[in-house]
Formats: sequence, C-alpha cells, structure tokens
Amino acid sequence: MLGQTPLTNFQTRDVESLLHPYTPIHKLKTIGAVVMERGEGIYVYDTQGRGYIEGMSGLWCAGLGFGDEEMIEAATAQMRALPFYHIFGAKSSEPAVELAEKLKEIAPVPISKVFFTSSGSEANDTQVKLAWYMNNALGRPNKKKIISRIKAYHGVTVMAASLTGLPGNHNGWDLPVDRVLHTDCPHYYRFGTEGESEADFVARTAKSLRDLIEREGPDTIAAMIAEPVMGAGGVIVPPKGYFEAIQAVLDEHDIILIADEVITGFGRTGNWWGSQTLNMKPKTISAAKQLTAAYAPLGAVMVPEDIYQSYVDHSATLGSFAHGFTYGGHPLSCALGVKAIEIYQKRDILGHVRTLMPLFEQRLKKLADHPLVGETRFCGLVGGAELVADKKTKRSFDPKQGVGPEASRLIEQNGAILRAIGDTIAICPPMIITEAELNELFDRFEKGLDQAE
Ligand code: PLP
Repeated sequence: MLGQTPLTNFQTRDVESLLHPYTPIHKLKTIGAVVMERGEGIYVYDTQGRGYIEGMSGLWCAGLGFGDEEMIEAATAQMRALPFYHIFGAKSSEPAVELAEKLKEIAPVPISKVFFTSSGSEANDTQVKLAWYMNNALGRPNKKKIISRIKAYHGVTVMAASLTGLPGNHNGWDLPVDRVLHTDCPHYYRFGTEGESEADFVARTAKSLRDLIEREGPDTIAAMIAEPVMGAGGVIVPPKGYFEAIQAVLDEHDIILIADEVITGFGRTGNWWGSQTLNMKPKTISAAKQLTAAYAPLGAVMVPEDIYQSYVDHSATLGSFAHGFTYGGHPLSCALGVKAIEIYQKRDILGHVRTLMPLFEQRLKKLADHPLVGETRFCGLVGGAELVADKKTKRSFDPKQGVGPEASRLIEQNGAILRAIGDTIAICPPMIITEAELNELFDRFEKGLDQAE
C-alpha cells in the first residue's frame, strides 16, 4: 500500500526497472508501487494478499470485472486458431470483420466503416489524420484546425495530448502542436458566473465557441472533438442542452463533431453510448477501453459512408490509404471485443447499469453533505466528488496540499481503489457490480473521506 516503507524486494525491482505512467516518479522510491497479482469479479488482490474493490474499473475500462470465464475461453480459442494476423494490403481476419459488423449494429449514428487501433489515443490521433485527409480530398486544404475543450482528455500521443486540455499534458512536453484550439469547459459549478442560470451558461459557452470559430475563420476548422462526459478532466457532465447548442454552431460552419466515447461507450452511461445519453449527434466516433472490457488492447474509429467515400476518392489518386497500425484489428483483441459485446447483450449489462443508477446517484448525493465535498457529479455509473476548502465559496484547496491524492490513499487503505483527479475523487465501478457491492464501495469511500477531514 502507498506510504509503506521499507520497499519489498519486488517493489525495489519495480522502481529500478519501470518508468511508470502518470506517477510522481520523484517520490516512487519512498512510496513504492502497489503490486497487483490477481483479480476476481470486482476485486483485485495485491502481492501482500490485500483485496480492494476496483472502484475505477482499472482505468475506466474493466467493465466486466476480472476473471470472466467466457472472456478467457474466447481468448484461448482465438489464440489457438490464429494468435495474430493483420488486415493490411487487403488481408483480413474473421474477428475484425465480425467486430466491425457488431459496432455498426450498435452505433448511435449511421456508420459505414470501422478502423481499428490499439488504444484510445491512437483512435483520436487517427481521427485528426482522417479529418485532414477528408478535407484534402474535398479540395479544402486550409480546413484543418481541430477544436477541443479546456479539461478535455483525449490521450497521450503528440496529437491526442495536444487535443487534451489539461496543463500537465502540455507543460514540459512542448505541446500543444499547431492547428489545435481549445474552447470553454462545460463545467457549470466551476465556470458558471454568480447568478448565471445553467441555460445562460450554455448559451455563453456556445457563443464563446462561435466567437472562436469566427475569429479563426470557419474555413480553417475541420472538426471539434468532445467526450460526452469528460472523464480524466474531473468527471464533468455538461448541463442540459449543451451539445444541442454546440452542435448548432458547428453545423452552421460545416465543422464535424467527433465523439470521444473511449470512457462513455458500451453501457457506462446507461445507454450503449454517451452520445445517446447526452443528445450528441456526432459524425464520427472513437471507442476503446470497454470495447474489450479491457481484456485486450483495442481502439476503434467509426466513420459514415460519405466520409469514407472521400477517403476512397483521395486514395484513388494517391495510390493507397497509407495509414494503419501493426496491431490494429488484432484477432485476439477483436475476438474479445465480439465476446464483450455479446456479453453486454445477453447478460443485459445495460439494463443492470440502469437498475443500479438510482442507488449510485443516491449514494453520491449523500456524499455531497460531507464537509469536504463541494460538488458531486454523475452520469450512469461514472461519478466524481470534488473536494473543496470552502463549501460556500467553492474555494479549492491549494494543489500543493495534495488533498485529493491523500483522500484516495485513505480510501485505498479502506479497501477501495478510486482515482484522485486533482481534488476530484472519481468513481467508475465495473458494470457487473451488485447493489450490495456498490453500497460496500461507497461505505469504504465515505470512511476514507472521514479520515481525510
Ligand atoms: N479518450 C478518453 C476520453 C480517455 O479517457 C482516454 C484514456 O483515459 C483516452 C482517450 C486515451 O486512451 P488510451 O489510454 O487507450 O490511449
């Protein structure tokens, strides 16, 4: 557990050999890593034998929890049949086609083709390249800028990190690159002004987007990318009417909307897609994470027929569609994607999520009464509790105090893994969690917060 000293032999080996992502690596030698050994259902167990409820589904991805026998069988069967083949140069494999067909069936808007990647970052990177390729094909070589939002999270490749609207992903990394613009974050609690209604806040946010587009020139902007619910920016659920207002501005200027459904896809918000829950009508979609319930790495970009046709026309002049990842469409990952979707359907995981939503909402709302909590936010089975120094004025803690990370450490000591995003504690349990387990998760959450007071 964090804070434990001295390090075990294995923790020492870990520190000596791994460069850990998203970790205060300057402190790792003293805090050590929690080494996970196995998982079962909603629980993971470390090498010291301690069990934790994985209240974040790992990284918002393990929606079916751990050790699902059907997933294991599907993986084993695919490994035996064909452990690898690619889909470059007019080769193919059955799992990739089957999964593309399934995605087309459940997509929130008409989709014609699916392009596979290995991650969400690669999917968003691909989205940008495809938007550029499309506009080159359409004879609009200047229409290339991409709008994202402050506090958005779209991944860590050079372009995905540029689209991300969080200072930590830019500072020290020489990012963002050119052609990326950031517009307002739709977080009413933080950015709504004194006396402003939610509707006025939405109108102001849409106006700010329009102003940005007019300032830059609509003919220079290809697309806007948005998560239906912002995850890694602090679980930010936009106010009612937000996407309708934003979309109207984009439509006026022939700017496509890309939905980043990497967290919100596959039932997380109570529908197949966050776009459906948030009334978003995207032109293209990025997916990953729960696409395979995290049993193997996989990302996807879904595009409609008219956009696909522009690629066909363009590559006819250029010779070939020159984009693709070695492991995009990997048969193991795709077989697990097919199986995960089959499980979501046959076990009615979406129905189960909807059944749990009132309890999730009730327990989160109860947390809002806690002296440390300024606001709680939720959509489906993803939520967050923002800790503040002063509930009345909404004053934040000094980030140097590390109140959020300390609270998540205490929650972890109580046997639940949640994630501190600054001072927001995020919660995103496996969608298979039972009511009793969800109550237990919140009990542990509350106990940790009480100790943090
Ligand atoms: N987009 C969103 C909304 C995400 O939350 C993430 C990861 O958390 C990504 C993209 C990047 O995905 P990956 O880490 O698979 O590259």
